[in-house]
Amino acid sequence: MKILCIGRNYADHAKELKNEVPTEPVVFSKPDSSILVPRRPFFIPDFSEDVHHELELVVRINRLGKHIAPKFAHKYYDEVTVGIDFTARDVQSQLKAKGLPWEKAKGFDGSAVVGKFFTLESLGKGIQDIDIQLDVNDTLRQSGNTSEMIFSVNDLISHLSAYYTLRQGDLIFTGTPAGVARVNRDDKLVGFIEGKKAFAVDVK
Ligand code: ZN
Repeated sequence: MKILCIGRNYADHAKELKNEVPTEPVVFSKPDSSILVPRRPFFIPDFSEDVHHELELVVRINRLGKHIAPKFAHKYYDEVTVGIDFTARDVQSQLKAKGLPWEKAKGFDGSAVVGKFFTLESLGKGIQDIDIQLDVNDTLRQSGNTSEMIFSVNDLISHLSAYYTLRQGDLIFTGTPAGVARVNRDDKLVGFIEGKKAFAVDVK
């Protein structure tokens, strides 16, 4: 399976990092080895002093697809969750400044937290009307609603499938709302989708 990720898909987050609001999706990927084993702690890697949490809606692809039109994209998923796209911001900034790919800042071991999946049916909500939330040490840190996305999930699937064959089990991280910040040792991160707890991660 593969993990495709979208950058700058919420205008308020693009602004907080002083990035331009994109006119087409910003795409990168994480290897499957980046997935944090469920219920294991996240260890801050020794090559970074500034790992940020990015809370994101995660969509799981449920069938093979390529060149998918936006109007058919809804047939390619039925389960979603929230996850964290951990980002070594200092590493990313250094690579960006040199015009280099920032893969290492995003794809390292443990950098992809994937919560428990929920069917859209059980959430009772449309894909572009889902509340997502991250609490850090029992305090609200990030919240957003998928209605605030610049590119909708269906448009993202259509765009991605023009470049990549999508397969059952592939994951799409759809971008983070504002509120990203550094994680510290002993932080406890809890992610919610529509008020339902999807993951809890201890930082070590
Ligand atoms: Zn992200």
